[in-house]
Amino acid sequence: MGLSPSTYYKGSRITASRTYLASAPANLTISTNNNATKILFDNSKKGTSVETDSGKKYRARKEIILSTGAIDSPRLRLLSGFGLKAELGNLSIPVIRDLSDVGKKTKISPSLHHDSPSQAT
Ligand SMILES: Cc1cc2nc3c(=O)[nH]c(=O)nc-3n(C[C@H](O)[C@H](O)[C@H](O)COP(=O)(O)OP(=O)(O)OC[C@H]3O[C@@H](n4cnc5c(N)ncnc54)[C@H](O)[C@@H]3O)c2cc1C
Repeated sequence: MGLSPSTYYKGSRITASRTYLASAPANLTISTNNNATKILFDNSKKGTSVETDSGKKYRARKEIILSTGAIDSPRLRLLSGFGLKAELGNLSIPVIRDLSDVGKKTKISPSLHHDSPSQAT
């Protein structure tokens, strides 16, 4: 049992998009309804681009930051070839790295939640 922090602004819950994207930087491109399905790698196993369900490929100039959330981040890793060799092999997913833990450590944390709006400073 404990207190968990919640994000409020002027008495209302506020989202990351309202907080950070209201004045988004000019070099940020947002593409919606375009789900990443796979990260593609070069011969040295460096991530080079991201493939989406629309068939597009987005090439990374520098790096790929995977931030698809607690469930979909390990899912995308598995689909991209990071996981247990035997399991990926059964699904005909080419293995980039044989890792046993990907997606196996998610736990449901039981919680009791009570919202009491307060003024942000
Ligand atoms: C009910 C609830 C209330 C919360 N309240 C607070 C709070 O008040 N304050 C706080 O600090 N935290 C709060 N949290 C926790 C907070 O939401 C998370 O810690 C935070 O959102 C995690 O950010 P993230 O960017 O890692 O993932 P997420 O916010 O989950 O973002 C992942 C994004 O990736 C997208 N995505 C998933 N798969 C794909 C794919 N294949 N291709 C492309 N996009 C994809 C999803 O649509 C989503 O938009 C709350 C969580 C919940 C569930």
